[in-house]
Amino acid sequence: MAVDSTSALFVDPVMTAAGEPRALVKLTRLETLWFNTGTLCNIACGSCYIESSPENDRLEYLSLDDVAGYLNEIEVKGLGTTEVGFTGGEPFMNPDILAILRLTLNAGYSVLVLTNAMRPMMRPRIQAGLLDLKREFSGQLTLRVSIDHFDATQHEEKRGPGTRAPMRCFACWAAVLAAVENYACKTDNHSRASSLSIASAVSTEPLNA
Ligand code: SF4
Repeated sequence: MAVDSTSALFVDPVMTAAGEPRALVKLTRLETLWFNTGTLCNIACGSCYIESSPENDRLEYLSLDDVAGYLNEIEVKGLGTTEVGFTGGEPFMNPDILAILRLTLNAGYSVLVLTNAMRPMMRPRIQAGLLDLKREFSGQLTLRVSIDHFDATQHEEKRGPGTRAPMRCFACWAAVLAAVENYACKTDNHSRASSLSIASAVSTEPLNA
């Protein structure tokens, strides 16, 4: 349910409208820091948690400067962060994404990117950048690919017509990248990670991007 931040009920972050202290959980540790890279996506899944689409730009693209500021803050505050996650929208539509990933990996964090692994990720510039990152930061970078169903028809029921075929291109290329450690299999909106390595199951034929 959307919260109206202008409502009188929520003007005081410490006290309730009835004059009672609000419940408070003190932040002592931030193991994983999540960033939303922007709400734009190349597709519009019916079950998308944030209603991403090629038109939805309600959350504008996260910039390199934004990320630098937050990474500096967690360092200064000593929050014990070990992992930084990126989701969208489709993160590989963000023009700064490669620079953002490099900055985060350089800072020593494990990086997790949630992606639909379609055209935005498969553009030559992004492929080349990911291969560079893979070479420089082996083991630090994980791409988690959202697939709604192993059956193409059922996958496309949720993701839309024509969304399954690009996954096959991705699977070929992932054998080269070998940075993919697991898929996020989503069934009935409940996500579960299945540590399914695809590197041994696909061919390495080049992608026509
Ligand atoms: S691919 Fe992901 S971000 Fe894009 S519309 Fe589908 S669920 Fe939303």
